[in-house]
Amino acid sequence: MEQGGKTAHGWAARDASGLLSPYSFSRWVQGDGDVTIKVLFCGICHTDLHVIKNEWGNAMYPVVPGSISNHLTVCMSTQAGMRSSASTGVGHGVTKFKARDTVGVGYFVDSCRACESCSTGHENYCPQLVLTSNGVDHHHDGATTKGGFSDVLVVSQDFVVRVPESLPLDGAAPLLCAGVTVYSPMVQYALNDNEPGKHLGVVGLGGLGHMAVKFAKAFGMKVTVIGSSPGKREEALGRLAADEFLVSQ
Ligand SMILES: [Zn+2]
Ligand SMILES: [Zn+2]
Repeated sequence: MEQGGKTAHGWAARDASGLLSPYSFSRWVQGDGDVTIKVLFCGICHTDLHVIKNEWGNAMYPVVPGSISNHLTVCMSTQAGMRSSASTGVGHGVTKFKARDTVGVGYFVDSCRACESCSTGHENYCPQLVLTSNGVDHHHDGATTKGGFSDVLVVSQDFVVRVPESLPLDGAAPLLCAGVTVYSPMVQYALNDNEPGKHLGVVGLGGLGHMAVKFAKAFGMKVTVIGSSPGKREEALGRLAADEFLVSQ
C-alpha cells in the first residue's frame, strides 16, 4: 500500500519461496512524534524466516522482513549522514531524540496505548499491537507494515530506544529481539539483584540461550547450560564462560 512518504529501498519476499529481491515502496509521512531512521544494521529472526515462507499461513506479500510476532530486530541511526538539520530527522513533537542519535527499534512499532496492558508497560500483550514487519497498522489505515530490511524507517518516538555510543551497532541489533526476550523476564524475577548464590539453568544454547548466559554472567550468577549437542560444550564453557555444561540426552 502506498503511504505517501519517503521512498524506501528494501528487500521483500513475493511468495512462499521466501526468496528476497529488491523492492521499493513508500514509508508513511513522518507525523508529529515520529522519527525517521536510516537503517544501518538489521537483525533477522527465525520468525521472519517462517513468515517469508508463509509457514504460519499469515504472510501478506510482499513481505519486507526484519521483525515479526514475538521477534524482530533493528538497529539504526536517525538520519546519520543524510541530514544535518534536526527537523528533518524528527517530527515537531519529538522530545526524546534529535537528528543523528543512534537508536534501535524492536519487534513492534505501535499499540493502542489505552488498554490495561499498554498502561502497565506490557504493550506486547496489547490486542492492537502493531508488529514491525507483516503487521496490521491500525494507526495507518490498516496498512501492512514493512520491516527493517530497507534503508529507511518511520517510527513513533515511543517505540524507539536509544543505543549507547559504546555498543557496536551490529552486535546491538540482536539485543532488540533475542536479547530483550530473555533480559525482560530475568529482570522481572530479580536475577540482576546481585544477591549471591543464584544459579541459572539455560536450556538450549541458541539465539536466546546464549544471550541468557551472557546476561547471567554479567549479573554475577553461576550458569549451567543444558543442551542436547555435546559439540556446544566448548562454546558454552569457553566462549561464553558458563560454569557447567550438562548433556541432556
Ligand atoms: Zn527473534
Ligand atoms: Zn493496548
